[in-house]
Amino acid sequence: MKLGYYSYTTHIEHDVGDIHPEHPMRIIAINHYLEQSGLMKDAYLGGCNHVAQVDLLRAHNAGYIDQLLAMSPANGMILADEDTPMAAGSLNAAYQAAGCVIEALNDLMQNKVQRAFCAVRPPGHHAESKKAMGFCFLNNVAIAAKKAQQQYGLGRIAIIDFDVHQGNGTIDILADDPAFLICSSFQHPSFPFSHWRNIYSNVINTPLNEGSFGIDMRRAVEAQWLQQLQKFKPQLTIISAGFDAHKKDHMAELQWQAEDYAWLGGFLSDINKDCKENKILAVLEGGYNLDALAESAHDFIAHFKD
Ligand SMILES: [Zn+2]
Repeated sequence: MKLGYYSYTTHIEHDVGDIHPEHPMRIIAINHYLEQSGLMKDAYLGGCNHVAQVDLLRAHNAGYIDQLLAMSPANGMILADEDTPMAAGSLNAAYQAAGCVIEALNDLMQNKVQRAFCAVRPPGHHAESKKAMGFCFLNNVAIAAKKAQQQYGLGRIAIIDFDVHQGNGTIDILADDPAFLICSSFQHPSFPFSHWRNIYSNVINTPLNEGSFGIDMRRAVEAQWLQQLQKFKPQLTIISAGFDAHKKDHMAELQWQAEDYAWLGGFLSDINKDCKENKILAVLEGGYNLDALAESAHDFIAHFKD
């Protein structure tokens, strides 16, 4: 399967201080690890443009986008939300991140690649239609999902979120639309403390206990997602790929290892393997221990590209 890898360098302008965990070294660490391993030698390397307003407005409220533009500081930092600082370059980086994901979606839909991984930041899955939250301004996954549905006419789009934190923003934007099947695993109880109840017609929430291991996740995923995904037959699978459930990541208390992300890569790639339309778009979300992040992202990509 042809793999596309999408990233950009100006994410470094989204710099909210060395002590903030969501910092530029995250992508630099992934890129370095992938270069060293040789995994990307045959990959198509994609860049990005700013996301177009029309793409943004399928997922986000117009007033919210105006509010982000108005609050963006010329220098220094402000808080867009209590844990979402915004520096002078943050909004530009967020627009580029969403643009990267759109570029990858376009390439998938035009069969230039069959698998795409977007190493982007700031992350997106906590951003709701009208609200910045949890280090996120624009919901990259939801923006791509809405474009796939409304511009490309897809009627079956699976959304997988295995970040340690629940993808509240994605559910806020895509809930109860039968074109989307959303499967989300997360430590519970934990941030964001919303959208975790199974009250939506198209969402499978899979809470995991603090301290639980990768094997617990694998069993839950096989029991709760596999049949539903096979029945759904996704034409496109979009993945919120967060790597902060790793045992070395102190953002939460799960005990996954790199081999669990490798398993997820293979599992998600195989779900619809007999279907020609089995396109997969993975988008970086969390992951804050640099060594664990780089190794886990590498092992995930290595198994989802085949
Ligand atoms: Zn997270």
